[in-house]
Formats: sequence, structure tokens, C-alpha cells
Amino acid sequence: MRTDVLVIGAGHAGLAMSRRLAERSIDHAVLERGEVANSWRTERWDSLRLLTPSWQSRLPGFRDPVDSPNGFRTMPETVAFIERYARAIAAPVRTHTRVISVRKTEEGYAVQTTQSAWQARAVVIASGACNIPNVPGLAKELPASIASLTPHHYRNPGQLEQGGVLVVGASATGVQLADEIQRSGRSVTLAVGEHIRVPRRYRGQDIQWWMDVAGILDTRYDETDDLERARNVPSLQLVGGPGRMLDLNALTESGVRLAGRVAGLRDGKALFSGSLANQAALSDLKMNRLLDAIDDWAARQGLDGLIRPPRRFAPTRIEASPPLSLDLEKEGIRTVLWATGFRPDHSWLDVPVFDRKGRIRHDGGVTEAPGLYLMGMPFLRRRKSALIDGAGEDARELSAHLAAFLRIYKRPRTLAASHGEMNTATSTSGQMLPPLNA
Ligand SMILES: Cc1cc2nc3c(=O)[nH]c(=O)nc-3n(C[C@H](O)[C@H](O)[C@H](O)COP(=O)(O)OP(=O)(O)OC[C@H]3O[C@@H](n4cnc5c(N)ncnc54)[C@H](O)[C@@H]3O)c2cc1C
Repeated sequence: MRTDVLVIGAGHAGLAMSRRLAERSIDHAVLERGEVANSWRTERWDSLRLLTPSWQSRLPGFRDPVDSPNGFRTMPETVAFIERYARAIAAPVRTHTRVISVRKTEEGYAVQTTQSAWQARAVVIASGACNIPNVPGLAKELPASIASLTPHHYRNPGQLEQGGVLVVGASATGVQLADEIQRSGRSVTLAVGEHIRVPRRYRGQDIQWWMDVAGILDTRYDETDDLERARNVPSLQLVGGPGRMLDLNALTESGVRLAGRVAGLRDGKALFSGSLANQAALSDLKMNRLLDAIDDWAARQGLDGLIRPPRRFAPTRIEASPPLSLDLEKEGIRTVLWATGFRPDHSWLDVPVFDRKGRIRHDGGVTEAPGLYLMGMPFLRRRKSALIDGAGEDARELSAHLAAFLRIYKRPRTLAASHGEMNTATSTSGQMLPPLNA
């Protein structure tokens, strides 16, 4: 089968790209291994709500009537929302069609799926940033008697054995799971590495509102000093719910024991780094910097005196001598839950665009392979790129680049060559068009 563009993945990012391609009358299909919104259906735990308020799920070409714009969608509500979007934009989605290989050809890309073979002139990879939970190599040292679980397989505390739980990682996933497991009556130890502490609400508004209106989420990738770092910062410590701040202090209050990051597993013992107090202090400092930026912005807008005054939160409380090791069996730990982040799975991509760490090299979503684009990665084109709210603008800019690529690609090879243009249909190296600045 042939089309101009294949979009891989029918999450919100692939659908937003589909909408932008349709606006440009570009022939395309969206290939999805499961159902629309597959990740939200199959890879999330039962109690999860979006961390972003409902107003902050703006998708291109869609006005969804929202009962409660300041509410936080549950997973079934999120799936229904993305399904409504796919229907509203009449996205040409082929469900239950898993892409198993993508290869460069003379004419573009050969895409093999579990259903059929496709030929496309361009491909947009929107297959998600969180396909595989990261589990550190040291996990293989875990005694066989202790269950090892990732957030993709965790659903609720009921599936865990009675007994203690070690949750590794204190970003959004780790703090939420530590909280609900502790509340289920199991005692939780939380291993804390680098984390980003933020209040859920500040000066009468949700933190996401402040970051949105103050332009923090719009920070562009090409205006960022340390992009590598920006693309790897942990998720904010947040839980989707009205006004609840789920930070380390809240967890300590509910009985969770804090330890440093897991530095090793040896002889049935978890060894923790001694950096917990430093990590917590750094996190407090960064939170205050964010609040300073918000306060400065609010003052410049003349909001002081009209809204609640600035405030600062109590520093994170860390016990004087946090544990440096934990004998897992002796201390009754029955489960270790690895909330240590996620990574994409591009194992099916047979095009040489990977860096040494196996990540796709790209400039704001434009890869080095002509006609191959990427969507939905952290800080792809702006800070909000991996959020539902970020897909529309990224897709607008990338679809403009893609449309220009298709226009030039259409020209007879000899004409393009006579104009000294690189990367005609037969070229396999270099970039067809320079990356976008717009
Ligand atoms: C726990 C968690 C909570 C989050 N909470 C929020 C939040 O509150 N607000 C927010 O805005 N964002 C949130 N995000 C971030 C972000 O919205 C998600 O990562 C989102 O799923 C990314 O959208 P996407 O469309 O890029 O990828 P996905 O939603 O993962 O969609 C990718 C699609 O590609 C399909 N696919 C993958 N491989 C193939 C293949 N080989 N062939 C065919 N199809 C394939 C998948 O089945 C999937 O449907 C959260 C992420 C996680 C992990």
C-alpha cells in the first residue's frame, strides 16, 4: 500500500500530527498497534489521574466540551477524550497494526506492519516516549524471593503481597505509588534521587496555570542552554487532584520512610547513597527559583495586591541519619517497585539515525534522514512537547517542514540536481531541509 506520510502511533501526538497533515490535504495513514490511546489504556495504574488540569489538553482542531476544566481526568476519561478527538478529526487510523520495521528506500520508506507492507514518502514517529520502564541493571541482584515490579505492570496495591515495599524513584510516578501503597497498610520505603518539588497550587491557581501563562512551558528547545539536561529532567512531583501537594514532607507525614537513591544491591541488602539531604535541599532551592520567577512575572503583570501574596513552603524534612542500607528480607520487604523513568522503544526503526545511547538524533523533531520526523519526546521543540497540550504546536511546525519536504521531493530528480539541491529522492544522507526556526 502507498501513501505520502505514515504516522506511527495513535496517541494524542500522532493524532495531532494527523490533524495538521489533513489541514494541508496531505495523504496519510496512522498506524496503531493497539487501539487509539493505547498507552493510556494498557500502561497506567488504576488510580492515575492526569497531572495536567483538563483545560490543559488543547488539541488542534478540537473543542471538547469539558464539564470541569479545572478537574483532572481519570484514565477512562482520558481514553474517552482521545477517542473523541480521533473521531472529531476523522483520523485515518489503522488499529491493531503494529509497525515491525521501517527501512529507507529510493522513494522514501518501506514500512512493514503485522497487517501489510506500506511505502511512504515520509514517516512521522509518534510511538511514545514511555514505552519501556527503565529498570537499573542492579535490579538483577534482587533476591528471587522479592517481587520486582514496574509501573507498567502495577495496577493497585491489591496485587502486592502483604509486607513492605521499596519504591525506587521519587518523581511523579514514585511519589504517587508510594503514597497509595502506604495508605493500603503496607509500609513503604522510598528511595529518593534527583526530584523536582512543586506545589500543586500557588497563589490561588494551579501550578500548571502559572507555568502556562508565564510562558515557562513555551520555552523553546533552541533557546535552551543545556538541551541535553532539559530533555532529561525528571517529571514534577505532582498528583492530579484538587490542591493536594504530594511532596516528601507529605509522604513522611503519612508514614513513608525516606532513603537516598539506590546505589547498589548486595547480599540481599539495598545500599542507599548518602545524598538524600543534599538532593532535598537542591530540590527546595529549585522550587523557590520557580516560585521567584512566577512572582516576578505576576508583579510585572500588576497582579500584586489583587491576588494572594507570595509564600514559601517549609523545607523538606529529612531525618538526621537516613538509612544507608536495608536488609530487604529481614525488614520484611516483599516488593520492589522501580519508578525509575521510562524510555521509548524504536527497536523497529532500521534507519541510521541513532546516537551512541540509542536515542534518535533530531533537531526539534527533524531527523537526519530526509522525510523522517519525531513527535512527543520531552522538550522536542518546547518544554511542553511531551504534554498533551504541547503536541498541537509541534505538529504545526513539523508538518510545515514535512509539506515543504514533499513539495521539493516531488520535483524531477534532474531538475533538483541542476539547482544544486542536496538530498533528492535517491539521496540517503544529510538533511533535506534545514531544521525549523519558526
Ligand atoms: C504515567 C504518566 C503520566 C502522564 N501524565 C500526563 C499528564 O497528566 N498530562 C500530560 O499532558 N501528559 C502526561 N503524560 C505524558 C504524555 O502525555 C504521555 O507520555 C503520552 O502518552 C505521550 O503521547 P504520545 O502520543 O507521544 O505517546 P503515546 O500516548 O504513548 O502514544 C503512542 C502510540 O504509539 C503506539 N505504538 C508504539 N509502538 C508502535 C508500533 N511499533 N507500531 C504501531 N503503534 C505503536 C502505542 O500503542 C501508542 O498508542 C504522562 C505520561 C506518563 C507515562
